[in-house]
Amino acid sequence: MSKQFCVFGNPIDHSLSPLMHNYAFKKLESKIDFMGSYGRYCLENKDELKQKFFQLGLSGANITIPFKEEAFLQSDEVVGIAKKIKAVNTWVLSSNGVCGYNTDAQGFYETIRHLDFKKFLILGAGGSARAVAYILKEFQKDVVILNRSKDRFRDLEQDFLCATPEALLDFSFDMVINTTSASLQKILPFEEIFLQKILSHTKFAYDLMYGDTPFLKLATMMKIPNCDGKNMLIAQGALAFELFCQKTLPETFLTMQEALQ
Ligand code: NDP
Repeated sequence: MSKQFCVFGNPIDHSLSPLMHNYAFKKLESKIDFMGSYGRYCLENKDELKQKFFQLGLSGANITIPFKEEAFLQSDEVVGIAKKIKAVNTWVLSSNGVCGYNTDAQGFYETIRHLDFKKFLILGAGGSARAVAYILKEFQKDVVILNRSKDRFRDLEQDFLCATPEALLDFSFDMVINTTSASLQKILPFEEIFLQKILSHTKFAYDLMYGDTPFLKLATMMKIPNCDGKNMLIAQGALAFELFCQKTLPETFLTMQEALQ
């Protein structure tokens, strides 16, 4: 039996998901009871997301920027932490239609699980900030969310301390996580002098984007241990893969890591 999967986004050419998933489908073929193939789809109209899923005859999909909130709204059923985040990055075909999950949240946590940190500062208040904030809350961590504008805080303010740079009073955090898309624009998310003040008090800097970002360059310059979003990308992909295969496959992370080497 063969099954088709894909990632929806716009733009989508840069996505590494097809590489990771196709490699894993091939390498782990003997452990899965179907032949999987995984493509990419550049969606123009968000209203057509679910319609395209069915038209393409998919058994599952990943959904990336800028359609995760829309995928949440169009899911026939939403499972787990995605309900709180209000964003879905994985769809699995089910008897009810499409079942939505958020593997970004757990994927992020898998990469920091080994660290004994309590206080976290999240830069940004978009979809990935919500995923990181709610999973940290589930593990009883203290979270402050910092964004350049108040507009995006909305319901986040019910669950987290939210601040704009002018209103930040505490500068002491175990980890500072940059979830802003400033990294995509190759710029710092806040004034350098302000970031220096925050980074000088922290033990670790994390940027969700894959690669050497201005934020990570600043952390490196200040000799603060840091990491980019590569392992999170792999971890969220591995969790999605297990959902597609409907079984636990602990070797998926290493397999997908191999695909990106
Ligand atoms: P969203 O569009 O939902 O949110 C973007 C956030 O960045 C908003 O808070 C926005 O603030 C802020 N922002 C945008 N531009 C700037 C800027 N120039 N200066 C300061 N703040 C800015 O994006 P996502 O949360 O979905 O994604 C953000 C990043 O996370 C992307 O780079 C993405 O690639 C990465 N990511 C990585 C993953 C991984 O697996 N490694 C998984 C998911 C995301 P405002 O409200 O003021 O506009």
